[in-house]
Amino acid sequence: MSDVTERQGKCLCGAVAITAKNASNNVGACHCSMCRRWGGGPLMAIDCGTDVSIDGEENVSVFNTSEWAERGFCSKCGSHLFYRLKQTGQHIIAAGIFEDGESLVFDHQVFIDEKPSYYRFANETHDMTGAEVFAKYGA
Ligand SMILES: [Zn+2]
Ligand SMILES: [Zn+2]
Repeated sequence: MSDVTERQGKCLCGAVAITAKNASNNVGACHCSMCRRWGGGPLMAIDCGTDVSIDGEENVSVFNTSEWAERGFCSKCGSHLFYRLKQTGQHIIAAGIFEDGESLVFDHQVFIDEKPSYYRFANETHDMTGAEVFAKYGA
């Protein structure tokens, strides 16, 4: 298991502030077509588990993306905030909203098979295809 840190972040306009008590120190990129459509590029995010509190929750719009997951964004400024598993309440939170980016390590990429050819990260990471992700975590 990776170490965890309490992390605080906020959206661009400040209407939403998030505290994650047990945020991973590792950042992952998701190249799936849904993430890229949502954010205009790969989603860089941190597994923050379930102990997440949100100030200004009334400003969070939640969009249902599948039977098992939903995505939250600030309804005032549009900042992408999280991908959340409905059943467990696990939050995968956008890395860019957090304050201390220097303490993070970018170490994995998922849905690498859906990555378009026009970009490629130079970081040394553990890469998984969509099929490998589903095999490991279940659908
Ligand atoms: Zn905002
Ligand atoms: Zn994705």
